[in-house]
Amino acid sequence: MSPRAPTAAEQLADLIRFSRSTVALTGAGISVPSGIPDFRTPGEGVWENVDPFEVASIEAFHRDTKRFWEFYRPRFEMLGDRVPNPAHLALAELESRGLLSAVITQNIDRLHRTAGTRELIEIHGSIASSSCLSCGTSWPLAEVEGLFDPDDGVATCTGCFGKVKPDVVLFGEMLPLEAIERARDLAATAELMICVGSSLEVFPAAGLPELTLAAGGAVAVVTKGPTHYDGEAAVRLDGDVAEELPAVLAAL
Ligand code: ZN
Repeated sequence: MSPRAPTAAEQLADLIRFSRSTVALTGAGISVPSGIPDFRTPGEGVWENVDPFEVASIEAFHRDTKRFWEFYRPRFEMLGDRVPNPAHLALAELESRGLLSAVITQNIDRLHRTAGTRELIEIHGSIASSSCLSCGTSWPLAEVEGLFDPDDGVATCTGCFGKVKPDVVLFGEMLPLEAIERARDLAATAELMICVGSSLEVFPAAGLPELTLAAGGAVAVVTKGPTHYDGEAAVRLDGDVAEELPAVLAAL
């Protein structure tokens, strides 16, 4: 009897089993099965007919805060309703089994947190809270709705009447330095980086697998469609992330 060749999911399970330090890097693709469209896919969802660089930049926030919230408030409400899918849950389960050190994400939807991931680095911030730009007071997502002025629809600080902004990194804003440094440290010391649902085109996330490879680690890619790292990936899974990651878990 000849043994069958291992599936890609089994190969990734083996890599995870023998790695002493594994991190996951996730992008918009992991949240698509939760009903959150990738805004880089043209013509989908709330980004349809809107140039996100025009409305969701820090410059636009200051220039026309009313317009910013007209665009962002429905997105806030939509994201607030979403729940994690089996791909988020599989990563949380890997962590709880001691097989995953951390999740680095480009997503702002806080679904990794909802799924139970503890060591989470959100390099683009999160909708989980919003803060006053003047005095720094912060509100959880559920309380932001109460800050909108009924007349102009702008979220205003209840203490100092300053402008309240979601704690997400808008276009044109600096990325949170501490999170980026932590992500780079994790990438450079990982024996295995699992890239999930990201085309790996947007920096600085796009540069993180390079750090892992440069330090002698391996990169696995679990994403529909091509990425820049396909040629260097130790294993490549290109099905639905909500099926692929549970299959990896089942093979462990
Ligand atoms: Zn304030």
